[in-house]
Amino acid sequence: MTLFSTNPREVTKMAEDSYEDAIAGLKKLLSEKNELEDAAVAKIRQLTAELEGAGGKKSDPDEKIRTGFAHFKAEKYEKNPELFGQLAKGQSPKFLVFACSDSRVCPSHILNFQPGEAFVVRNIANMVPPFDQTKYSGVGAAVEYAVVHLKVENILVIGHSCCGGIKGLMSIPDDGSTNSDFIEEWVKICLPAKAKVKAECCHLDPTEQCTKLEKEAVNVSLGNLLTYPFVREAVVQKSLALKGGHYDFVNGSFELWNIDFNLTPSVSL
Ligand SMILES: [Zn+2]
Repeated sequence: MTLFSTNPREVTKMAEDSYEDAIAGLKKLLSEKNELEDAAVAKIRQLTAELEGAGGKKSDPDEKIRTGFAHFKAEKYEKNPELFGQLAKGQSPKFLVFACSDSRVCPSHILNFQPGEAFVVRNIANMVPPFDQTKYSGVGAAVEYAVVHLKVENILVIGHSCCGGIKGLMSIPDDGSTNSDFIEEWVKICLPAKAKVKAECCHLDPTEQCTKLEKEAVNVSLGNLLTYPFVREAVVQKSLALKGGHYDFVNGSFELWNIDFNLTPSVSL
């Protein structure tokens, strides 16, 4: 079976398997209910009933995935055999893009990147951590692959309006204490940006400070990119350009600037 089968019978079989697994798992949890809070037990009962009620029929999420791929295949894949034939042999994207995981800011949508045009990393608040082979190997591997092997010509870090990760960074108390397992520790990567905004923009209201921080955090990420030796080398050789961006989905605007942001005025698109 292919991973993204559009055969309805195969999809239904996949759905049945996952229902059986889900129901079995939930029933096992119910059998251990003495160890659970009442509210949790009630929630599990509700979920079990919903799953059993569906009776193995295609669920909405499965249908969404199936029809989504069918649409892509008919409208894009089969209409562009030359492009997808080339991409089957390899990729040579010109861009490495860092974007937030936020569902509203997909770079392929907002910048019209086609398949093969952008190597994309998405994470909470579109942050690039500094070079660290232990703590940040996931991001490091993506940057290394894009710069060393794919030889991308641009790295674009895109911040965005109403970013929850940036709000989270802004909300961390001055003593640095955190309440989450991962989120706050991750967004602390851009603490230097927060310090700058707090020092220079204390006259602004909290919303305006967050907007400033969304952009300043991009600058910290651009600076962090220079801690990767292969990035630094490519930038010095002028084979790689670093760019910052900010997408405002409230006003429908996009701001673009370069790493020498102190020298080059930003451009509104
Ligand atoms: Zn975000």
